[in-house]
Amino acid sequence: MRKIAVLTSGGDAPGMNAAIRAVVRTAEYYKLEAVGVMRGYHGLVHNEFIRLHPRSVADVIQRGGTILKSARSNEFPTPEGQARAVENLNDAGVEGLVIIGGDGTFRGGMRLHEAGVSVVGVPATIDNDISCTDYSVGFDTTVNTVVDAITKIRDTATSHERIYVVEVMGRHSGHIALWAGLAGGAETVLVPEVEADLDEVCQRIESGYRLGKAHSIVVVAEGVGGNFQTARNMDESSAFHIGDYVKKKTGFETRVTVLGHIQRGGNPTAQDRIMASRLGAEAVELLEKGYSGHMVGMVHAKIKATPFDEALKQQKQVDLDFYRLSHILASQ
Ligand code: ATP
Repeated sequence: MRKIAVLTSGGDAPGMNAAIRAVVRTAEYYKLEAVGVMRGYHGLVHNEFIRLHPRSVADVIQRGGTILKSARSNEFPTPEGQARAVENLNDAGVEGLVIIGGDGTFRGGMRLHEAGVSVVGVPATIDNDISCTDYSVGFDTTVNTVVDAITKIRDTATSHERIYVVEVMGRHSGHIALWAGLAGGAETVLVPEVEADLDEVCQRIESGYRLGKAHSIVVVAEGVGGNFQTARNMDESSAFHIGDYVKKKTGFETRVTVLGHIQRGGNPTAQDRIMASRLGAEAVELLEKGYSGHMVGMVHAKIKATPFDEALKQQKQVDLDFYRLSHILASQ
């Protein structure tokens, strides 16, 4: 193998740059030429390749986002789009590809692998919803960002003795809500995996008040409450509905904060930089050893390669012990 390419795809995640840096510098170590593909699969279809040197990835380990940009591509999933992607890789003399992204990115990688391209994936998504790895790159930074926000909201919640409903990312999975809720000391955590009972939320708030609690924080994953959204405006965040419901039922002053895209940005934590560096380097080593169609993950703190199809057919479950523990600790 003489030349490899690297791309970032899907939603950006803090630590993607640290992974790119690791890929480029490990390639240099093994005397491989490295090229970057701009804008994920879009750039693969449209031939947006750039030469990457070890110096091209200087000063990026600490930066959020991705220097290679990311995009969603509707052309790539089509047979014509994939054929063009394979042709562009062959024309550029690329013999191995590292893809950094989430499950959609890995589905695309699977197609390329089936078309004969050597592909290895690095899991990077703030949602942490990829199986066969304990964590995805970006998750730890996002949890820390959310905990920081909850800590700030807590100050004003205490001062005004209010209920705060904080909506965090997680359309299909509650990993961010559960981790940040536990670390932030939230009174209630609502996740898509467990049906929300708003009367129970109100009871918990009222019993907290009787115990002398000055405030209550409810952390809600954005995917919670599909059912009650249908009764209202579909675009409206369920956090607002929950806020209204709690206010009407308990009479407490309630405020809603939707954290939104601040959860994607920011300098990656040490944990994300370390994981991105280890997984990025391992991806290149696996390509060198002749692997393809695999993702490289961290399982019980050890690096482990898993075939894409095996990883994609499993759903990463949230740890419901977190859910129970949050509520036990907050109800005393
Ligand atoms: P995140 O979880 O952060 O959203 P992701 O990698 O899952 O990241 P997607 O937008 O789902 O993000 O996927 C990224 C790109 O991968 C898509 O824009 C599309 O081009 C390609 N892709 C997704 N699914 C497939 C598929 N089944 N076949 C081929 N290509 C796919």
